[in-house]
Amino acid sequence: SAKVGGRGSVQFFQPAMQAEAHARRELEDDLRPALGRGEFEVHYQPIRSLREDAFVVCEALVRWRHPRRGLVPPSDFIPIAEEIGLIHELGAWVLSTACRECALWPSNIGVAVNVSAVQFRHGDVLAQVTQALRTSGLAAARLEVEVTESALVDDVQATGSLLRLLRGAGVGVSLDDFGTGYSSLSYLRALPFSKVKIDRSFLDGAEVGNRAMLLLEGIARLSDALGMTVVVEGVETPEQLKLIASLGCIEQVQGFLFSRPMTADLIQAVLSPITPAKVA
Ligand code: C2E
Ligand code: MG
Ligand code: MG
Ligand code: MG
Repeated sequence: SAKVGGRGSVQFFQPAMQAEAHARRELEDDLRPALGRGEFEVHYQPIRSLREDAFVVCEALVRWRHPRRGLVPPSDFIPIAEEIGLIHELGAWVLSTACRECALWPSNIGVAVNVSAVQFRHGDVLAQVTQALRTSGLAAARLEVEVTESALVDDVQATGSLLRLLRGAGVGVSLDDFGTGYSSLSYLRALPFSKVKIDRSFLDGAEVGNRAMLLLEGIARLSDALGMTVVVEGVETPEQLKLIASLGCIEQVQGFLFSRPMTADLIQAVLSPITPAKVA
């Protein structure tokens, strides 16, 4: 039978932990030069307006095209980028790339860019946003900045003034993954968000009249009453869409039901249908 503790278990666990630490160090070493090597790309997932029955904004989602590993999702490298401080440079690159690419789309379609907690706390988000708008020529009203609750925990005062400066510049600010953090409701009171993105976990098990559905409805009505645009993320089925639409206060929907995130080329083709060539 297996022995708990003692030399045996130490010998068993240590190599596994070493392997994990090694893999992580390898990824970190690959990550440092990745920006300079042009290995990042931004994919876009369109978000649909229920009122307009059309796509109105696309969320910019960064990916790392690793030479050996293939396409690496943000959950695998954003935390490392935050830890090693690369997030400031990477974040600025995503902002400028997203603004530049959005400027090629029809002018009624905006872009939403995720900004990390670390950027928010120690970075110069306002200067990066201003720079990205200036170099791309994109109208400020077409840009939204998404922050998750974890970005806000330590200093509501400082966050509040930064958000007000962004809004003052004409940029939208969204509270992302709403409901997954600790102080969601107090943030709604204290901070000037223009949009709330309700986390997809609130769709889990939601059915007409059940508790999950009542919770989703309550949050949506509250956000709507506070004057924010309400979005639900992670819509995957027609049944979920029907429930959301029945509430009447959820303005936008995002999820695999409508579209997966797409490359910049593909989204541009989807958003700008080919018009017949002009006859000379
Ligand atoms: P997020 O901002 O909440 O983005 C939505 C995530 O949900 C995306 O995952 C998207 O692909 C996924 N998603 C969309 N619709 C559905 C659906 O119907 N079902 C399911 N299961 N998932 C759906 P992705 O691209 O892997 O990004 C994960 C997270 O990484 C993002 O969550 C965001 O927090 C972070 N992230 C992505 N790009 C950036 C970036 O440029 N900067 C920073 N700081 N974070 C980023
Ligand atoms: Mg987001
Ligand atoms: Mg989200
Ligand atoms: Mg999320």
